[in-house]
Amino acid sequence: MADLTRLTAAQTAERIANGEVTAVEVAEAHLARIDAVDEKVHAFLHVDRERALAQAREVDEKRARGERLGPLAGVPVAVKDLFTTEGVPTTVGSKILEGWIPPYDATVVRKLKEAGLVILGKTNMDEFAMGSSTENSAYGPSGNPWDLTRIPGGSGGGSSAAISAYEAPLAIGTDTGGSIRQPAAVTGTVGVKPTYGGVSRYGMVAFSSSLDQAGPCARTVLDAALLHAVIAGHDELDSTSIDQPVPDVVTAARNGDVAGLRVGVVKEFRGEGYQAGVLQRVDETVELLRELGAEAAEVSCPSFTKALAAYYLIAPSECSSNLARFDAMRYGLRVGDDGTHSAEEVTALTREEGFGDEVKRRVMLGTYALSSGYYDAYYGSAQKVRTLITRDFERAFGEVDVLVSPTTPTTAFPIGERADDPMAMYLADLCTIPSNLAGNAAMSVPCGLAGEDGLPVGLQIIAPAMADDRLYRVGAALEAAHQARWGHPLLEEAPSL
Ligand code: GLN
Repeated sequence: MADLTRLTAAQTAERIANGEVTAVEVAEAHLARIDAVDEKVHAFLHVDRERALAQAREVDEKRARGERLGPLAGVPVAVKDLFTTEGVPTTVGSKILEGWIPPYDATVVRKLKEAGLVILGKTNMDEFAMGSSTENSAYGPSGNPWDLTRIPGGSGGGSSAAISAYEAPLAIGTDTGGSIRQPAAVTGTVGVKPTYGGVSRYGMVAFSSSLDQAGPCARTVLDAALLHAVIAGHDELDSTSIDQPVPDVVTAARNGDVAGLRVGVVKEFRGEGYQAGVLQRVDETVELLRELGAEAAEVSCPSFTKALAAYYLIAPSECSSNLARFDAMRYGLRVGDDGTHSAEEVTALTREEGFGDEVKRRVMLGTYALSSGYYDAYYGSAQKVRTLITRDFERAFGEVDVLVSPTTPTTAFPIGERADDPMAMYLADLCTIPSNLAGNAAMSVPCGLAGEDGLPVGLQIIAPAMADDRLYRVGAALEAAHQARWGHPLLEEAPSL
């Protein structure tokens, strides 16, 4: 039998539905792959063998009874360790939640289970989703399967590493400033940040509530759409969840087409700091869009140059408030509880030991930006920039159907290169942040390899809020054209481990 870990999620689901393979066989193949490679990749913080096999057995039993199965029933999925999972550890990549076992499932996790997906385990991430490389994880970095000495992106690097190493066909990520799209770009995979409010945040450990958004990670555009359709939709438990029908992303992904599409190439996202090879692949892809029948022209969004600065005031401000709940009294770690310390001292000692440097840096920055003397100068100004960015998008989407840009300025950088330079690390999200600030939908789709080492490059596609289907229509057209051009899917290029 062909290696089950090499199939797409759509192919796997079809074979399970046809009875060609069982969900248990599929789960076992992926668990064996994890056993074989995860010591090197370190995509997972927790592998849940027993539960995964039990979930797979349940799907097989349902099928045997003739019950109708969902379109991804029996397909394995890896979940970023930021979603609460009942009875399964959830650390958010932090020491402060070490040993915490949540008593409930996040809405996304509940939906995965109800749809019959098989949760293999929880993936590595930068602590509290703050970072672009997984180097801020309290449990050590993950490696990029294309080159294990390089970063797999962040914060959701465990999820992107797991799918590009064939440890899982699907994964769930979260994107506050780029943490689904940038990892997708540097691992040659597909990642989508849905419209803000499109996927429930209930049960996601909050970093920056007005920016955080869960979304799908996959090796193909169709697989991402199938997963998107499972996790999206209104949720009464999340007050920011949108009560409208989910855009039909699956039909869009099955009907890739860009004829007559108006594409805007963001003028501000090129120049200094962008790797030449990355810009070359992006330019070629814009040319390819033209060949496929799209009209493409440069569009200027001047406020985007201020997005990074605004983000690094708004995100830390919200995190300084959200992380106040980690007080040593409620969850996880407690340090100094030996009868000699006051409650306040226990809180302080626990935070000192439980939070890493980047988290502490952001809590301090956010507290400062929100303090009464500086509120207008920092937080207030950042919110004004946020409005200007939203207006730039509105103007642009008056002229074009989608915007495109590089997902990230460079290919995967070496582990360690930016670890001690927060500013250099922040630049990885230069092109992805505007969509979080405005709340619209964006995708990263592979668009070739660059540099001497031939590392993956991602093209970012951005669509207006609640037009997520457009991303999939364009992404699928590009994926098919790239495959036709190169004679094979890009993802088959990933070196074996
Ligand atoms: N790299 C960005 C940050 O560190 C984005 C993180 C994210 O999207 N979770 O804040």
